[in-house]
Amino acid sequence: MRGVLKFQGAFYNYSVLQMKIYSRRQWGKCHAWTGMKEGWNKTMLYVSTRNHKEQATASQAILKGLADDGGLFVPEELPALDVPVEQLAGMSYQETAYEVMKLFLTDFTEEELKQCIRQAYDRKFDTEEIAPLVKAGDHFYLELFHGATIAFKDMALSILPHLMITAAKKNHAEHEIVILTATSGDTGKAALAGFAGVEGTKIIVFYPKDGVSPIQQKQMVTQKGDNTLVVGIHGNFDQAQTGVKQMFSDKGLAAELAAAGYQFSSANSINIGRLVPQIVYYVYAYAKMVKAGELKNGELMNVAVPTGNFGNILAAFYAKNMGLPIGKLICASNENKVLYDFFATGIYDRNREFVLTSSPSMDILISSNLERLIYRIAGNDDQKNQSLMEDLKENGKYGITPEMKGQLASFYGNYASEEETASAIREVYKESNYILDPHTAVAAAVCKKYQEETGDTVKTVIASTASPFKFTKSVMSAIDGNDSGRPDFELVDELSALSGVQVPQAIEEIRTAPVRHKKVCEIGEMQSVVKEFLQI
Ligand SMILES: *Cc1c(COP(=O)(O)O)cnc(C)c1O
Repeated sequence: MRGVLKFQGAFYNYSVLQMKIYSRRQWGKCHAWTGMKEGWNKTMLYVSTRNHKEQATASQAILKGLADDGGLFVPEELPALDVPVEQLAGMSYQETAYEVMKLFLTDFTEEELKQCIRQAYDRKFDTEEIAPLVKAGDHFYLELFHGATIAFKDMALSILPHLMITAAKKNHAEHEIVILTATSGDTGKAALAGFAGVEGTKIIVFYPKDGVSPIQQKQMVTQKGDNTLVVGIHGNFDQAQTGVKQMFSDKGLAAELAAAGYQFSSANSINIGRLVPQIVYYVYAYAKMVKAGELKNGELMNVAVPTGNFGNILAAFYAKNMGLPIGKLICASNENKVLYDFFATGIYDRNREFVLTSSPSMDILISSNLERLIYRIAGNDDQKNQSLMEDLKENGKYGITPEMKGQLASFYGNYASEEETASAIREVYKESNYILDPHTAVAAAVCKKYQEETGDTVKTVIASTASPFKFTKSVMSAIDGNDSGRPDFELVDELSALSGVQVPQAIEEIRTAPVRHKKVCEIGEMQSVVKEFLQI
């Protein structure tokens, strides 16, 4: 741990220093300057991946979540980063967030956006750096789990409620917003934490009853707030997600909701308000790598991302296309390796067994955000994308053309088996005394495969998506080969002793918290559960 802490310490001191240098007033001045630059006032429009005629401003796209035709909103074109790396290297997370997000959310005023950023990235995070970069062995881990629910979903979901409320005001939305969310474990709690008690919103979360870790489940079912509802379903994540998407595109249901004064929106990564904040930390990581002397300005950096719904890695792809010097995008899957097969063959085929793994937040066979990549490699062709998505819906699969596949050269896909995942946890712990969660371990294992296969020595940042404390059972049994049915919180304490890391507040909170949500339903009952909660 020593080496790790030292490295981390250097960054920590550095960012404290930055906080002093860039007082808020100076931050404002700084921006007035970048504001003069070309492109700043350009309005960014969003179009549906299935129909170009459906357009929206950023705030409208955030409010809606999904386009009316079931497509996903994408920016008409990706903006170029307009701040030099030297300057980014001196910025705090919040300042970086502003520089990136202002390019996408062009109908938010400077004050509105800065206000959202301030409210999101505050003391809810347990470090001022927000996303510390930690070196362990040969790899750099971008720790995205320092927010309220100790998974990377906090990076976007701590700001989404603020963006949405601002968007609602801006568009004079008449109806109360009902956030409808399917979760593979982490989105649910992060969205609940973000929206609980937020006036003018309600939030409903569906999770697979037997498909999340015990700690994930406890985090959700103990959620406070009268505007929250958490429901387990007898089914897997894909079924939960499909059920939610169906409700989104049900016009009859929308009319019933409107009559009762409600409208749906989404906290899943299909919402552009989730995706844009995720671009920020790749820019931040690159700038910090340069600052630490690990990279020369302009030198390439690879990223390895444990992938499920394809949101996190798509954000990295967007960052690359904005001009950030990213080399390979290493897409890591668990045994649900539908994406690995897709990158290998050009055929996306979800017709296969759904496997429950130790990385449940990646147990997904329909990666929603892949649609945004498909649309792009189809030459932004809405019709072509639409027909592939029809194939997916009808037959559970589609194939892309060789020309489209040719544009995927910057991606490398592979997967890690359960054994490989456990041994990655064990090996990194032995070598560096640094403990990975199973999702991050999948990425570390795949990263190793990539480096062995290609001999590529470009420095790699691994997106570290969850705290190991969220998955204590899998982590402890990987390390000592023995979970022997010990209670979760006993394992939590053991993990803390082993790693020398204090038990995170998010875990302490649920040790004794009472269960508040006991509802469980069949897949076919999701809609009636929603109606009952909203009393319509
Ligand atoms: C959601 C999640 C992932 C997968 O991210 P996507 O954006 O869905 O690809 C990976 N790891 C953890 C811990 C997660 O919560």
